[in-house]
Amino acid sequence: MSVVVKQSRAVAINPTRSCAPIGAMLANYGIHGAITINHGSQGCATYPRHQMARHFREPVEVASTSLTEKTTVYGGKGNLLAALKNIWERFHPTMIMVCSTCLSETIGDDIPGVIDEFQENHPEITIPILSVKTPSYIGNHTTGFDNFLREIANNLPDRKKKKGETNGKINIIPGWVNPGDIRELKHIVREMGLHGLWLTDYSETLDGGYYEPRLHFARGGTTVEELRSSAKSLATVALQRLVGGEAAHIYERRYGVPAHVLTMPIGLANTDAFVETLTEITDHTIPEALQVERARLLDALVDTHMFTTGLRVGLFGDPDLLEGLVGLVSEMGMTPAYVLTAGENGPWGERMVELTQELGVESEIILKGDLHELHKRIKAKPVDLIIGHSKGKFIADAEQIPLIRMGFPVEDRFGYHRRSVVGYNGAIALVDEITNVVFERKASSVVSNTLVELGVEGPTSSPIILSNGNGNGKH
Ligand code: SF4
Repeated sequence: MSVVVKQSRAVAINPTRSCAPIGAMLANYGIHGAITINHGSQGCATYPRHQMARHFREPVEVASTSLTEKTTVYGGKGNLLAALKNIWERFHPTMIMVCSTCLSETIGDDIPGVIDEFQENHPEITIPILSVKTPSYIGNHTTGFDNFLREIANNLPDRKKKKGETNGKINIIPGWVNPGDIRELKHIVREMGLHGLWLTDYSETLDGGYYEPRLHFARGGTTVEELRSSAKSLATVALQRLVGGEAAHIYERRYGVPAHVLTMPIGLANTDAFVETLTEITDHTIPEALQVERARLLDALVDTHMFTTGLRVGLFGDPDLLEGLVGLVSEMGMTPAYVLTAGENGPWGERMVELTQELGVESEIILKGDLHELHKRIKAKPVDLIIGHSKGKFIADAEQIPLIRMGFPVEDRFGYHRRSVVGYNGAIALVDEITNVVFERKASSVVSNTLVELGVEGPTSSPIILSNGNGNGKH
């Protein structure tokens, strides 16, 4: 049976998490023409920019109130008022989001109060100015993203709507994903003949093209006008429970927009749940194009199961990503032996126990965990594969175990932000990648679907056949 354990060590060694403002900044990048002001020291803006630029390979612009020793003692109100004025005068953004930091939260700056004062003194500036709480000692990067979505849901939608009035769209909250994932989700929604209203959409703003002259604001992103109309949508579908799930419920409570909160659509069953939810909301049927993609995924699972069944996997990262991945690796016949996340969400741990029981696999779910903890376990009882972001490379190198890079940040590989792991197509690509890594680890060569085990001579001598194309393991 699966168990939930909580790391007891107070200090984190090689943590898996990033800082909370990054989440709010990333989500804000999905709104066309929006600018972030990071209310803290310059380092609190530089570190997130550095992390995001290395992952997305795009310049990331964030304003900072540059708090110093003096403002830390006497308060940062003056700096924030000046920053709001400067940003408006220099950029004329469509929206400003002010996120707090460990520093501004600790000194107790009243950011919403400062914004109110600024708006009273500048009635000519009518763009939305949001305040998002992102102290990194409460939560992590996913918390920052989720807090941003809650603020959007509470403050931006236009409450004036006539009975039965709709914009004909479905609010879709992808959660913390990559630009490539958003494009794949858009593909599914488009194939269903539906129109999505994306909260938010950084598929172009953080993975755009090269344009000359340089654009004032990056192309793409959801517009403020679209967000205002989101109270009139047919439904809200949140594709991650902890990043956007509560925002979906806010839409339901405040504006009467029905909420559907799902597991991240990684793998067959989770993608089926997303597609079926879209058919429940509307009377649209599943188009042939998606049925073909689904059949192709099923075929890939059948073709590869003899190579992956029974393998042990160590997974780490964000809870929603892990929940989706546990579904896929179980569909591939693998055991998610260790599932480690930095958060302390007890109900999530319990849900993972239920999920793994339903899937018939046994896992150790580790909360408040760091990579030192995962390494200790892997040393004691090894795994065949690790799935997680780039910081897992130290375990992978030390133990000579392949690492499938996924999550945030992936900074030591190129183009990972462009690929997709969601939907049927994302799952096919992952199944291929995982199986190929297994081939590399287990075999010195692959001949006609036959693995020749490492450490023995090549196929010209007497190969040890691990499995063949018929899956019966015979010569
Ligand atoms: S002090 Fe807090 S908000 Fe600033 S960079 Fe560090 S973790 Fe992030």
